[in-house]
Order: sequence, then structure tokens, then C-alpha cells
Amino acid sequence: MNTRNAYKIRASRVSSPLNKAPVGMAQSSALPQAKSSYSSKQDYDIGAKTPMDLNTVCDTMPERSCRHPLTNMRQNAHLARCEESIKVRFDSITPTLKKLANLQHENDFVSKANSITSKELGFNFPTELLETAWVDGLDMKALYAKAVFNALNSSVAQFSDDLGRNEDLRVDAGSFFLDCGYHSVDITPCSDGRLKGLAKYILRLPLSAITVRNSYAGALFNVESNVRDWEKIELDRLRNGKVLDDGNSYLKIVVYHRSGSDPSHQGCAAHGSNDKVSAEAGLEKLTEFREAIENTYCCGSAIDILLIGVDTDNDSIRVHVPDSAGNISVHRYVDTSQLYNETLSMSIDQARVKLYNAIDICSDSSGWAQGDGRPHEGMRKVVANLLEYNLSQIEYVADLYGGIYPDIGHAERYISVGDGFQEIQLRNIAYFAHLDTVEEGSADLDIGIKIFTGLNLNKGLPAPIAIHYRYDSKVPGSRKRLIEKCYRVKNAILNRYKTLGENNNLFFQISIQDLPLGSSLEIISEEA
Ligand code: ZN
Repeated sequence: MNTRNAYKIRASRVSSPLNKAPVGMAQSSALPQAKSSYSSKQDYDIGAKTPMDLNTVCDTMPERSCRHPLTNMRQNAHLARCEESIKVRFDSITPTLKKLANLQHENDFVSKANSITSKELGFNFPTELLETAWVDGLDMKALYAKAVFNALNSSVAQFSDDLGRNEDLRVDAGSFFLDCGYHSVDITPCSDGRLKGLAKYILRLPLSAITVRNSYAGALFNVESNVRDWEKIELDRLRNGKVLDDGNSYLKIVVYHRSGSDPSHQGCAAHGSNDKVSAEAGLEKLTEFREAIENTYCCGSAIDILLIGVDTDNDSIRVHVPDSAGNISVHRYVDTSQLYNETLSMSIDQARVKLYNAIDICSDSSGWAQGDGRPHEGMRKVVANLLEYNLSQIEYVADLYGGIYPDIGHAERYISVGDGFQEIQLRNIAYFAHLDTVEEGSADLDIGIKIFTGLNLNKGLPAPIAIHYRYDSKVPGSRKRLIEKCYRVKNAILNRYKTLGENNNLFFQISIQDLPLGSSLEIISEEA
């Protein structure tokens, strides 16, 4: 991360006319800052104000001084601070361990090591990992894994705290979706680490407003399991006295990804870095899911589907606009990187009108992209808001990284197995393998191990694997059964990757959490 700009994004003032576009974007003139369209509360509570916080956020890069009119700068500042504080925890690990390596044979090493780690990492390693260093040398793999898990756990606490302070956003977003005709929103992205910040950063949706969130390699979700999610939600509505034919629908979104600058290498590994295959596979799953509900429950209007593609180089999105029948084409979409350019020099109102026009023009496409008319008004509003929020993320990437991430490929810090740490929303922080059993999730796990072979194993570092599941405290025995499942999964992973385990290249942390978002993290064990 460009730390200098992370500081500057929240610290600097408007000091000159705005007249330059970000790298790769169009030229424009100065325009006022806009707030998000569905709520004035879109601005996050950024906590205690410091003199730096009170400054206007702008003018963040020497080579860049334009502002898109629809950018939520206050939210961007909050997200920059969040990203910086999380990444620094992980990025400090290797330099700190190198310092310890240089000191390990000195007198009073334990005390010196504690002094360094408490300053650099914010915690001390267990004494037993340090005190025999003068005899056998430090177990760097164990220290590395311990530090990664510590950074992970403190990140969960930080994101949970952030969630707790943004209850208003959840209510606002829930009302917005209901106003658009959706009682529940279900998102399945690819489990690629570059989509880990999807809700909070790329789509700017409060995590707690999304009813179902599960990631799968290639976004290839389990249709049967997803049907059970839908059934549970409909049953809850019935039990809570909701009218099931109230006209509100369930919105299922699949998010695939691609790389604009290196499409044949840095796209989705699960689909051979082929954009078209990634989009078609996502659409096929969406269609299967909708058909499964319709065939089982004869309720044609119960499900709306939406397909979104993310360019992981700059976080711009392609929203594949459904037609009047709710059908989607991989060829029919609105692209925010193009819209960003086209609306950069407009007023706030002009830009918003342009977004709606873009949706209509897209709907009226001919040829391969032709559909059957325009989507209903609720879907138009959802698409328009997704487009608008994403413009803030394009601006964010332009501010902090000059318009394209330096790590366009993989840079995950750990492998997350199980239900995942849903509170943590940050790009490239983890590779996520969603699985109930290792047998079912072996394809996802294999991709994760392949990624970490390049990231860690080839450099002599281990692969830290965080096994994490959520239990339901309302269900008697759920917690105990889940802990047993964690150990089953760990043993199955060790069995599948025997050589890696025997060579001390796999380290595990087992943790659980109660179902509600923001629940306390319970560490069950941490071991090789
Ligand atoms: Zn992928």
C-alpha cells in the first residue's frame, strides 16, 4: 500500500484547482464532493476527530488532482485508514522476524526480542519459542505463523468493532433493498483474495445488510446448499408473520473477476484466467439456482439474479443488466471504468442521470447483447446505486495506488478454511476455501495451496491455515459439535497434504464464533 498517500488521503487540503485525471482516466475540471444517494448516513462514523481528520480530504497525489463528483471522500478516508492499519500488522511481520534472527545468539535475547515485537507487532511471542534460540536457533516458521494468526485475530476485533459502530448503515441499506423490492440479498463471489474486500470496498454495501455471504472458487456455489439458505429465509419470514407473496423477491448476486491489464494470467485461476468462461460459469450457476427454486416451489417471481464482474486491477465493475424477464447476457453490461471517464466532468445530478441512461442504453442493446426490454424499476435502482458506489472505489484506487494496484496478482496472507472470517473485508488479505468437508472442498483447497506455494513455501515460509466455523448458540450442542468438526477438517487437510505437514510447512489456528456478525472470536487451538 502507498502509505504516504494513505496518510495524505485523510490529511491534505484542497490547495489548487482540480484539473487532472488519474492515471488512465479522462481529464476533467474541479467539481464538488457528493454524498451517497441512498443515505446521508453513508458517511461512516470515523471515531474521535484529530486535527488531521478534520481536514478536507483531497489533493492526494502530486500527479492527480481531479475528483469525481459522486465520490464519497469521507468514506474513502475511513477505508484508507482501515486498510492501512490492517495491512501494517501483516507487513511488519517479516522485517521484525529478520531483526530477531540477527539477535538470536545475543545475551538477554528474550528481553530484547520482547522489546522489539511489542513495539513492531504489538505483542510478545511465547517465551518457550524464544528461550532456546541460542541452542537450536529460532523456529522461524512457528514464529511467522504465530505472528500471522495474531494479526488476523486483532483484525477480526477491529472489523467487528467497526461493524458495531455502523448499525445505522445496515438499517439504511436494508430499507433501500426493501424499497427496491428485495427482502434478502445473497452474494457469492469467487474466493480469490482480491475479492475479499468486495462488500466494504468494491460495492460499498454494509456487510450486515447482506443476508447470505459465501465465497467459492470461481464463484461456483453449491446450488442445493443455496436452495436450503433460501428455504430457511422464507421459513423465517413465514414464522415472523411476513406475507410471502408481498411482491418482494430474493436477490442472488454472483461476482466473477478478471484482470484488465493481464487477462490471460491474472484472471480467475478456477477458470483458467478466461473472462468469458468466468462470466458464463457464474451465469450458469445463477440460472440453475433460479430454476431449482422455480421447479421445486413453482414461484417464478421469487428470485431475481444479477451478475457482476470485477476488474481486480482497479476494482471497477461490470454489472450485467437483466432484461424485463430477469434474464442476463454475458455480453450485456455497464462498465464503471468507462462511466467514470464519461461522468468525471459532470455535475452530481448530470452524473446520476448519466448512470440511469447508461442502464437504459445497455438494456436496448442489439446483436449478441440483445435482451427482452428493460429491467423493473427496483432492479434499475439497485444497478444504478451499485454503479455509483463503485465510482468511489475507482477514485480510492486512483488516490492510493495511482489507478492500478501494485499487487495485481495474489498477495494473500493466510488461507481461510471453513465459514471464513466474514467480518474481515480487505483485498488480498486471505485466500478463502469455503468447505464443509475436505472431500467436498478439495478443489478450493488445492488452489489455495498452489497460491501459497508461490507466495510462501517457495520462500521458506509456511502456509498459515485458519480453520474457522460459526456455531449457533441457540442450538444445543452446536458449539461442541463444531469444535469436533474443526479437528476433523484439520486432520483431513494434514492427510491430503502429507508431505507439507511432515516438513513443518502447515500451521493451523482453530477458532469458532457465534452466528451473529461481530460475535467474539474464540480461539480453540493454535498448533503445527
Ligand atoms: Zn476466481
